[in-house]
Amino acid sequence: MSYIEPAPIKDKENPLESMMQRFDKAVELLGISEEMYHILKVPRKQVIVGLPVMMDSGQIRTFEGYRVIHSTILGPSKGGIRFDPDVNLDEVRALAAWMTWKCAVVDIPYGGAKGGVACNPREMSAGEIERLMRAYTTALLDVFGPDQDIPAPDMGTGPREMAWLMDEYSKSKGMTVPAVVTGKPLVLGGSLGRTEATGRGVMVSALSGMEKLRINPYRATAAVQGFGNVGSHAALLLRERGVAIHAVSDISGAYYNNKGIDVAAAVAYRDRNNGSLEGFTGAELIPGEELLMLPVDVLVPAAKEDVITRKNVSGIQAKMIVEGANGPTSSKADDIINEKGIMVVPDILANAGGVTVSYFEWVQNRIGYKWTLERINRRTDRIMKDSFDKVYEVSLKYKISLRIAAYIVAIDKVSSTYKYRGGF
Ligand code: NAD
Repeated sequence: MSYIEPAPIKDKENPLESMMQRFDKAVELLGISEEMYHILKVPRKQVIVGLPVMMDSGQIRTFEGYRVIHSTILGPSKGGIRFDPDVNLDEVRALAAWMTWKCAVVDIPYGGAKGGVACNPREMSAGEIERLMRAYTTALLDVFGPDQDIPAPDMGTGPREMAWLMDEYSKSKGMTVPAVVTGKPLVLGGSLGRTEATGRGVMVSALSGMEKLRINPYRATAAVQGFGNVGSHAALLLRERGVAIHAVSDISGAYYNNKGIDVAAAVAYRDRNNGSLEGFTGAELIPGEELLMLPVDVLVPAAKEDVITRKNVSGIQAKMIVEGANGPTSSKADDIINEKGIMVVPDILANAGGVTVSYFEWVQNRIGYKWTLERINRRTDRIMKDSFDKVYEVSLKYKISLRIAAYIVAIDKVSSTYKYRGGF
C-alpha cells in the first residue's frame, strides 16, 4: 500500500461546518428519517437580487443581495440582514438554518431566515447605505411581511437601517407596518430591553447552569471575552447577581483583577474612550488569550466565533462556558470539553435572549401596545430559564452535552410540527 500524506490539521474551523456536525449528531440520536433530514436541511427559498444604487459620485454601482428562508414550519421566518464585504449565499444559507434552531430551542413561533448584501458599509456614506437598504427592501417586497418573513439587524446594520426598511415597505403598502421588521429605534416601535436582551439571556443561562452545578453566585467568579453589546451587559448583569468578574476583554487586550472588576466603571470608561477599554486602570492588562485560561467558575466568550479550539481547549479551567457569541467553540473542541466535564451552555440557547425580545417587539407592534421594561425582562427571564431546564432534562435523558441536547430539542420541535402539519 502506498503511503498517503495525512491531510493537514486545520486550526481554524468554519463555525457553520461546526454547526452542521452537531446537527448531524443530534439527528442521529433522534433517529429521524432520511426524508425528514432533507426537509430540515434544504432551505425553502433562496433569493439573489441585483441592486443598482446611485453612489454619491453620480455613478451607479450594482450590489448583490441575498435572502434565504430556511424554514417556515413554526411560523414566519426571522433573521438579520448583514452588510459585509464577505457576505455570500453559502454563509447566508447556513446562518438562516442557525436561526431556525435558535427560535425553536426557545420555543418562539418563528422559522429561520437570514439576508445580506456584499458591500462595505465602512466605506459608504449614510446616503449610499440608505439607498442600498431601500433598494434591497424594494427587491424583496414579496418576501418580507409581518406574517411571512421578518428581518432584523445583523453585522453592519442597526436601528437606522431597520427604520429605512420599515419606511420603504410601508410606502409600498400605503400604510405604516412596524411589524415587518424588528430592531427598530424605540420611537418607531422598537422594544424596551432589546439592547441588553442578549446579555440578559446569557446571565439567566449562567445562573441556571450554576444552580445545577451547585455554584453559589455570591461566591462565583467569571471572565468575559468581548466587551461590546453582549459581553458588557452580561458582565453587568452577572455582577448585579453577585458574581465577581475577574476579567473582561476587548480587541485591545484583557483586563484582569482577582479582587473583581468594577464593571460599571469599565463600561463608563469604554463609553468615554471611543468604545475601547484601552488604558482602563481598574485592572491589570494581560494578553487576550490568557483570559480564556483563567481559573474562574464561568467563562463567557462574547466576542466572535472560533475562539475555543482543539489547540487551546486543554488549558481551560472554567467549570462552565456560556456562549454569548455565535459559534465561539469549534466542534473539534467539543469532545475534549466533554472529557474535562465542563458544562457548556451552547450559543443557540445562551444567546437567544436577543431574538426573544425581537419577538416581543413584533408582538407589541401587532397588538399596538407597549410593554414595560419590567414585563419584558420578566418574560425574557422565564423563557430563558424554561428553555435551559428543558435542554438540561434532554441532556440527562440521552446522557449528552447541553449542546447536542439543544439541537435535539430544536430539531424535534420542527420535525414533529412538520409531521402534524404535513406538507407545507
Ligand atoms: P459588538 O461588536 O458590540 O462587540 C464585540 C466585542 O468583541 C467588542 O468589544 C470587540 O472589541 C470584542 N472583540 C473582537 N475581537 C476580539 C478578540 N479577538 N478578543 C477579545 N475581544 C474581541 O458585538 P456584539 O453584538 O456584542 O456580538 C458579539 C457576539 O455575539 C457575536 O458573535 C454576535 O454574532 C453574537 N450575538 C449578538 C447578539 C446581539 O443581540 N448583539 C445576539 C446573538 C448573538
